[in-house]
Amino acid sequence: MLKFLKQVGDYAKEAVQAGRYIGQGLSVTFDHMQRRPVTVQYPYEKLIPSERFRGRIHFEFDKCISCEVCVRVCPINLPVVDWEFDKASKKKNLKHYSIDFGVCIFCGNCVEYCPTNCLSMTEEYDLCTYDRHQLNYDNVALGRLPYKVTDDPMVTPLRELVYLPKGVTSPHDLPANTRGAGLHPEELVEQQEK
Ligand code: SF4
Ligand code: SF4
Repeated sequence: MLKFLKQVGDYAKEAVQAGRYIGQGLSVTFDHMQRRPVTVQYPYEKLIPSERFRGRIHFEFDKCISCEVCVRVCPINLPVVDWEFDKASKKKNLKHYSIDFGVCIFCGNCVEYCPTNCLSMTEEYDLCTYDRHQLNYDNVALGRLPYKVTDDPMVTPLRELVYLPKGVTSPHDLPANTRGAGLHPEELVEQQEK
């Protein structure tokens, strides 16, 4: 008899636990039913990349001194610096420069260590092509000014999740001056100085 009562007790306990789990699962489902869709309708809508986003590299030919530091700090020795030595001026003359974005891992080392700051990361991320060889950018392609989501009249720019106000998950229909959650860098500096 005692054994039977124990079995009934265990069964009831498991039934209550199962009910609780089902309730938890359904609460998530019902919570999502109240939310608005957050789908970004690419390519008509695009997310604005974050400030420190590492996209396509921009190169300024006139600033480059052909020192090849970028090649040495690159984990895969990727940048190709083609130069010739000018005996008259005893200086290196840059002829061509290229980076293959089909291989680049966008680590930013070359940008960080370039002594003349002729390399910079841009917010351009849409580099898709049908032929991977077209991802090998020469100095002309690298020197092209970067595409900006906010400058494209055909695109609706949307803020990323981290730049949305607290509790807001959809970047649609937000007034332009809505503040994101958290402190701005200058406010953080001010707070540390106090
Ligand atoms: S580190 Fe900068 S200056 Fe030196 S070769 Fe590379 S891009 Fe040119
Ligand atoms: S971003 Fe990194 S992988 Fe790409 S070229 Fe520069 S150092 Fe090399």
